Amino acid sequence: MNEVRNRVVVIGTGAVGSSYAYGLLNQGVADELVLIDLNEDKAEGDVMDLNHGLAFAPSAKKIWRGSYKDCKDADIVVITAGANQMPGETRLDLADKNSAVFRKIVNAVMEHSFDGIFIVATNPVDVLTYVTWKYSGVPKERVIGSGTILDTARLRFQLSEYFDMDARNVHAYIIGEHGDSELPVWSHANIGGISVHRYIERHKNKYSEDDLEPIFHKVRDAAYHIIEKKGATHYGIAMGLVRLTRAILHNENSLVTVSAYLDGHYGQTDIYAGVPAVVSRKGIREIIELNLTEAEEERFQASAAVIRNTVESIYPSH
Ligand code: NAD
Repeated sequence: MNEVRNRVVVIGTGAVGSSYAYGLLNQGVADELVLIDLNEDKAEGDVMDLNHGLAFAPSAKKIWRGSYKDCKDADIVVITAGANQMPGETRLDLADKNSAVFRKIVNAVMEHSFDGIFIVATNPVDVLTYVTWKYSGVPKERVIGSGTILDTARLRFQLSEYFDMDARNVHAYIIGEHGDSELPVWSHANIGGISVHRYIERHKNKYSEDDLEPIFHKVRDAAYHIIEKKGATHYGIAMGLVRLTRAILHNENSLVTVSAYLDGHYGQTDIYAGVPAVVSRKGIREIIELNLTEAEEERFQASAAVIRNTVESIYPSH
């Protein structure tokens, strides 16, 4: 019987890609890890460094600096290559340069008959996930963007701090563009099953509805603050990508907020945007359509328009 080995190829071993590789190694996700970067020394150095940690890892793994040929037998190709935001730059400002980078990368992957799942993290992620789907011709459910996975985790963290509660017991989504137009879905936010609104009402002396929007602003603007301080954000997104990878490889049917292809969902067609979705070994199994309030619905449509306009500016045949 052939041994089944899960192979993940990471393209772009900068701050995000190398943190992701480190996260995979530490959490024992995937059996084979292939690193590719334009900067071959960076990828080679990362491989050497990661291999030196194997003796301390939870499971054995084979790690090497690879080439696009290695995509042939890959289960997942994760793209974290491309330009990062400079201080003051928005994610959308990166669309032109990173879509040019993606054309080359996706073509190179597909030249080697890749037949797995793409995960995209490079910004603007919703736009580049769409571009990856178009350039690759892979079925839409097998192209997944990291979308608002990180923003959702940031929101859960901020709410857990505010309510002094374990983040794993706080449930709330950020949906829409992974960027300035994203929105919180307060109507479905809950603490252990109790809606955030009711929870606040029950503890009026301690909490206030007026604090919710400033909490969201901290989430929305988090990347700007981190980039100002240290030039890049990478640990949080790397852990989100590991979570997504595990959900796929272990066929978990887990609900995560990722950039998924909308085909009539939330009133949108032919666009990738951050929504809650069920992820399995086959990719996106199902998109969960939340009943949004009128105000949330309006904000979501405006956010989708931002993504659509950017896609149209770089991909005119859209
Ligand atoms: P970085 O500059 O540290 O790394 C980028 C890497 O890509 C570099 O090592 C570079 O050599 C490589 N690269 C560039 N062109 C390439 C090509 N054609 N083929 C192979 N490799 C190539 O940047 P970073 O901080 O790791 O950020 C990477 C991307 O991830 C950025 O677009 C950033 O905005 C994005 N990001 C996304 C999220 C999210 O939530 N989705 C969070 C943080 C960062």
